[in-house]
Amino acid sequence: MNYAGVAVNSPGSRSTFCYAIPPGLNINVGQAVWVPFGSRVVQGIVLQLSDEPAVEETKEIAGIITDFPPLSPMQMKLAQWISEHYFAPPFDALSLMLPPGFERRAITCFQLVAPDLIGGQADSPLTSEQRQVLHIMKGKMKTSLPELEKAVGKRKARQITDELLDRQLITETLELEPARIKPKTVPYIKLTADREEIEAAKACLNKSRAHKQAELLESLTGQTQPISISELRKRLRCSPATIKALESHHLVSVERLRVRRDPLAHLDFTPSAPPVLTSSQQAAWELIQDVIVSRGEQLDKPPVFLLFGVTGSGKTEIYLRALAKVIGAGKKGICLIPEIALTQQTVERFASRFPGRVAVLHSGLSQGEQFDERQWIMEGNCDIVIGPRSALFAPLPGLGLIIIDEEHEWTYKQEDKSPRYHGRDVAIKLAQLSGAVVILGSATPDIGSFHKAQQGEYQLVELKERITPRGYSPLPEVTVVDLREELKAGNTSLLSRSLLAAMKETLAQGEQIILFLNRRGTATFVRCRSCGFVFRCPRCSIALTYHSVEKRLICHRCRYSTPASPSCPRCFQRHLRLLGIGTQRVEEEVKHFFPEARLLRWDRDVITRRYGHDELLKSFRDHKADVLVGTQMVAKGLDLPQVTLAGVINADTSLNFPDFRSGERTFQLLCQVAGRAGRGVKAGRVIIQTYSPDNYIIEAAAKHDYPGFYYKEIDYRRRYDYPPFSQLVRLVYSHANEESCRREADKVYRLILDERTRNDRIDLNVIGPMPAFAFRARGRYRWQLFLRGPDSSRVLSQLALPRGWTIDVDPVGMV
Ligand code: ADP
Ligand code: ZN
Repeated sequence: MNYAGVAVNSPGSRSTFCYAIPPGLNINVGQAVWVPFGSRVVQGIVLQLSDEPAVEETKEIAGIITDFPPLSPMQMKLAQWISEHYFAPPFDALSLMLPPGFERRAITCFQLVAPDLIGGQADSPLTSEQRQVLHIMKGKMKTSLPELEKAVGKRKARQITDELLDRQLITETLELEPARIKPKTVPYIKLTADREEIEAAKACLNKSRAHKQAELLESLTGQTQPISISELRKRLRCSPATIKALESHHLVSVERLRVRRDPLAHLDFTPSAPPVLTSSQQAAWELIQDVIVSRGEQLDKPPVFLLFGVTGSGKTEIYLRALAKVIGAGKKGICLIPEIALTQQTVERFASRFPGRVAVLHSGLSQGEQFDERQWIMEGNCDIVIGPRSALFAPLPGLGLIIIDEEHEWTYKQEDKSPRYHGRDVAIKLAQLSGAVVILGSATPDIGSFHKAQQGEYQLVELKERITPRGYSPLPEVTVVDLREELKAGNTSLLSRSLLAAMKETLAQGEQIILFLNRRGTATFVRCRSCGFVFRCPRCSIALTYHSVEKRLICHRCRYSTPASPSCPRCFQRHLRLLGIGTQRVEEEVKHFFPEARLLRWDRDVITRRYGHDELLKSFRDHKADVLVGTQMVAKGLDLPQVTLAGVINADTSLNFPDFRSGERTFQLLCQVAGRAGRGVKAGRVIIQTYSPDNYIIEAAAKHDYPGFYYKEIDYRRRYDYPPFSQLVRLVYSHANEESCRREADKVYRLILDERTRNDRIDLNVIGPMPAFAFRARGRYRWQLFLRGPDSSRVLSQLALPRGWTIDVDPVGMV
């Protein structure tokens, strides 16, 4: 094979590039190589080999980065699928799986050919500049181009080195820039002398009153393994000088050994045995277990179970069973969770069932920890990897099971950068490639997933009851409060009379309350009551949010912030009014009505430190507070047994979002909040406040009626041809100039219409062009188009979109 198709590490290059393989270079698929790209040399991964070039003129591969392919053949296949399905540059897809720190630049370096004879042998005299460069290089193994650039200027450095290369006075090589992530090593000590020598030395040392040294030798006697010096010094309080002295007598040796930076090192696990399954769990387990055991070969479609059960119905117990079974058969599993915030609870539960066999991978870990964790996984030291969507790309050998907990969560979709993949779909592809089984778990399945289960594509497995310390228990009673009635009765507080009464009762009983709100800050926006002026972000144009603690207006998109002014900048009146509500305002109202209640607020403004989530959650679980006020995050999968009242401040905030999925989203959030209450010994209750009490979504959520919601929702999707009855693709263009942005959007709109006509694709619907919901983001305007149809992404494979467009296949939202 003389040619290689290479995915290059250069932003936005959508295709692979063909390079010639220079003679003598042994190139394999999956290998990491250096390739010339434009005027630079960049990293690339070889995707395929061929005898014939794909284009007329090819450049040569410049060198090999690693002899070992960094990715397995299966990872290569998965990356290829991601790249094709989501129209992502191949290198973007590959880099999901590359080890942290892999992406490095190449640095050009020079070496003197004959270090002793600088210029002396040249046939024509050297210029003073050439002599200067040679002088800099003198006495060094190699000198980097940036070093020379610093000394003689950027352009000059390249020019002079080219001249010197021509005269064969220097040679040029490519080197990797230094690694940022390195294995961690710590010093270890061990005995090097034999027993007799040690005994003799001890006697000698004691005689000369070197008791510390003798003591150290004594403690090392009988140790076969090296022990870490920090541990030793904790035990013995010996000084570095003592160790040095023994080392100089060749009695001990000190060497640095590699250690794993273990992200779970600070946790203690009490091993726990599996409980006896309840009859409902047993029935579910019987459906799943046979399939798990009989697996092993690749099928066209991997078996996918949709485990549908309310919060607390024992789904996690089924996951643990399934993992035990898979591990028993010599295989391994991945468990995806929607939020890093929830890792600790899950990890604690999994690690106490499988002590020492659980690895975690997420972006909250240091790069070093991620590096070590991957190494540990790759060497086969663990059976289970837990993490958010990116944990799918762990280098886990022998994958047998993928679990996706809370499968309906939007966080499984990567939206903000390429590749814009959905963890669920990638998991199913990975399962197909590796012969694994998939279990999707949810109390409120994604409409698309439930539809697939209805069609028989997934197997539906149901857990009908909640398990609590009281045994099976009904779901909490839900009351819907009509906020319009509150206004009529003159109550302008955020807390309705029913909610206030329930809170009072709960606090009197010494029980806990969660108040849930879908927004941050104290006000959604600030408007002048005289002239209607609204404070907006000068960069993003979305309304700014008032934060009462900082007394600032903050953009929740780009974090622009400005001090809150007391008067309107347009009409100069002091009639500013805070509209909308936020967690801080709820907090203030609770303080007003219940000054003695202990309050905690949980949102992204509070949680910034690394273990912030866990600490906050723990202090609430330990009952250090009575009321927890929070956003989305409080709704997700938390086990808080002392909570007996959950209140939704305003169910309408997400209901009125201009998106076809807003109903689904609202239903999921309401059910999750409702699932928070009454998980402990006492029954719970839930109060939902709303301005639209007869909306079918709120009615269904109040009755915990998923099927009731599903059948209405799927009708609506069918009627308007939304997913799962069509495929959506979102195309976004952004530009600093509003007019150019709109023109470009129009141009591509017509391009797609032409393509549609050419291919006779009447089933393809083009929505837009229209400004994106956050019309300006980070100082740039954004326009968007949607394709909707049975197979809408196909049209894109025939169409070369101009540069600057981003493609989002199967977007989770339209705003
Ligand atoms: P889910 O994952 O559906 O929210 P969990 O698996 O967390 O449900 O179960 C809810 C609670 O019931 C947990 O406290 C769990 O320890 C307990 N539980 C689950 N299965 C059993 C069982 N078979 N016997 C006793 N307790 C159980
Ligand atoms: Zn902004």
